[in-house]
Amino acid sequence: MRQQHSYSTEAIVLKRTDVGEADRILTLFTPTKGKFHAIAKGIRRPISKKAGHLELLSHSQLQVALGRNLDIITQAEGRESFLHLRTEIWHMTCGFYLAELVNAFIEDHTQNLDVYLLLLEMLRSLESDAEIQRQQTLEGNAHTGQERVRTLLLLRYFEMHLLDAIGYEPAFRQCAQCASELKPEENGFSPSLGGVLCPQCSRFWARSLSVNALKVLRLLQRSKWSEVPRLRLDSSLLFELEFVMHGLLRFHLERDLKTWNFLDMLSLKD
Ligand SMILES: [Zn+2]
Repeated sequence: MRQQHSYSTEAIVLKRTDVGEADRILTLFTPTKGKFHAIAKGIRRPISKKAGHLELLSHSQLQVALGRNLDIITQAEGRESFLHLRTEIWHMTCGFYLAELVNAFIEDHTQNLDVYLLLLEMLRSLESDAEIQRQQTLEGNAHTGQERVRTLLLLRYFEMHLLDAIGYEPAFRQCAQCASELKPEENGFSPSLGGVLCPQCSRFWARSLSVNALKVLRLLQRSKWSEVPRLRLDSSLLFELEFVMHGLLRFHLERDLKTWNFLDMLSLKD
C-alpha cells in the first residue's frame, strides 16, 4: 500500500514563533484539519521564497510533508496577502486580534469550517475597510470616526459568532437565569450566567444593560455581517457592547486577551 507522505491545504497563519537559526514554527488554521502547528525551515533566510506567503494573517495554499513531530511546510503560494490591512495599524491590530481569539478558543486538530470561513470573511472586510481608509487619507479627507465604529462592530460580531460556533452562544433573547422573554427595557448582564438577565433576576447582582445595547447585540447575533447596517453608535453604547462581549470571553477563557490593551491604546489615539 502506498503511504501518503504529504498533503496540500489552504491555511491562514495565526501565529509565528522563531526557532533555531532560521526556522519558524507556524500556527495554521485550515478548513479541514482545523488548527495545528507546522515548521517552515530556512524561512528567516533572505532568499526564502516561502516567507512572503507565511506572514501573520496570510491566506496561502501550502504543500505540507508529514514529519515525525511537526509537519513541514515545503511549498507556499499566496492566495490573499491582505496588503491594505497590513498598512493600516488599526486594521492590522484588529486582524491580529481575530487570530488571537481563534488561537485561544479553538482546540488543536479540531475541524471548524464555520469559524474558518468567518475568519476569512472578517479579514476580507477589514482589508476592504483598510483600503477605503487609505484612499481617504491619500485624498486628504478627514476620518469621520464612522469607519472606526464599523470595525469595532466587526470585532463584536466576530466574538459573538465565534462563541456561537463553539457552543457558548450568549443568551440575548431569553433571560439567562429564568428563561423568560426579554422585553425592551433596562435589563441586566451576567457573564457567568452566559448573557442577559430580566430586571427581576438582575435586581441584586447584575450590571445594567441598556435597551439600545440589547438591540444591537441581537441584531449582530441574528444577521449576516454583510446585512449589518452602518450604525451610528455613541461611545457609551460601544463601551456597553465591548463590556458584554469581553465579559463573556473573559469568563470562558479565565483571562484577558493580549490584544485588548493594544486596541484600547489605539482607540484613545483619535
Ligand atoms: Zn429572569
